[in-house]
Amino acid sequence: MKINLLGSGGSIGTQTADVCRLRGIEIHSAALKSNYKKLAEQAREFKIKRVCIFDEKYYKPLKQELSGTDTEILTGIDGLCELAADKEADITVNSVVGMVGLKPTLAALENGMNVALANKETLVAGGDIVMKLAAQKGITILPIDSEHSAIFQCLMGVRGDCDKQLKGIILTASGGPFFGKSYSELEDVTLEQALCHPNWSMGKKITVDSATLMNKGLELMEACHLFNVKPSQVEIVVHRQSVIHSAVVLSDNAVIAQLGVPDMTIPIQLALTYPQRMPSLSGELSLTDYGTLTFAKPDYETFICLSAAVKAAETGGTAGSIVNGANERAVELFLDGKIGFNDIGRGVSGALENITVKKADSLEAVLSADAEARAYIDSRFC
Ligand code: MG
Repeated sequence: MKINLLGSGGSIGTQTADVCRLRGIEIHSAALKSNYKKLAEQAREFKIKRVCIFDEKYYKPLKQELSGTDTEILTGIDGLCELAADKEADITVNSVVGMVGLKPTLAALENGMNVALANKETLVAGGDIVMKLAAQKGITILPIDSEHSAIFQCLMGVRGDCDKQLKGIILTASGGPFFGKSYSELEDVTLEQALCHPNWSMGKKITVDSATLMNKGLELMEACHLFNVKPSQVEIVVHRQSVIHSAVVLSDNAVIAQLGVPDMTIPIQLALTYPQRMPSLSGELSLTDYGTLTFAKPDYETFICLSAAVKAAETGGTAGSIVNGANERAVELFLDGKIGFNDIGRGVSGALENITVKKADSLEAVLSADAEARAYIDSRFC
């Protein structure tokens, strides 16, 4: 078993490397943005044949770090796409953060590669073209996001026509660090507070998305594409303990859920060993240690990013690309200390109100909506 690992230096990337170490899975190629020392370290440890450093200015120092090895070095988006499509591996794991992950996903599918997807923006913005291409090539995209892996795992137990038997999805949300707060209380939230997630340890972008609940909105759109359901079939439920990772409602109203301690190594490993289950790095779940599991409706008035994302999911077309692009740019500005926490939601809602939604049937349409949304955020805040 060999994998291409895109985004090997991030939270999912390093946990994927942990799973590879445990299960003796080979990393054929790896790519990351700029941390060339990490990439060189991974290349030596896993004897990786091909690496891609996205930011070309680190090509020379990376080459120096890898002197004496025969690891091939590529750069930029072209390198990322080449590795994504490299059929020496059995599957491409895409754990790149943001819209930049879309082209590599398409390159992999185009070449008939199996894909394990942790890059949710790929589906939020490019879902229409990605799912169509996957169907044409007969490829099942294996989700790594914990909620979508949970839904996928629940559906593994359904025999026969899934589309007919799947009535709805219960998408669980931790509620993030600001659960119970009001909109006005969130005006002065600091970056440090936003980066302090109660249950999950993740990268910065997704941690901020979890604080605004944008993450759940992106996951709603992701779920609609992956499991061929309408937004109205998905119920978002705040479940503070993150033990139930999501559930499916079947046509007879039976509900099947997947539970476990909050740990990404189960979804990652299952995507690599599917359909086999094997011993993993995850701890055991003790329900009696938790004692109580709680459930609540999300507060759409406070978490306006979530409202905008639900609206975008219902609208379809390039609306996903618009809210995603606006959110990516606004989160960048928030991480740089240039805008406030609630500005993220104001920016995302404003972008959706002001930019014309079109059909998302080509890469050009998706990318131009994304660019328009980013430009809207810059014109509003910069
Ligand atoms: Mg998730």
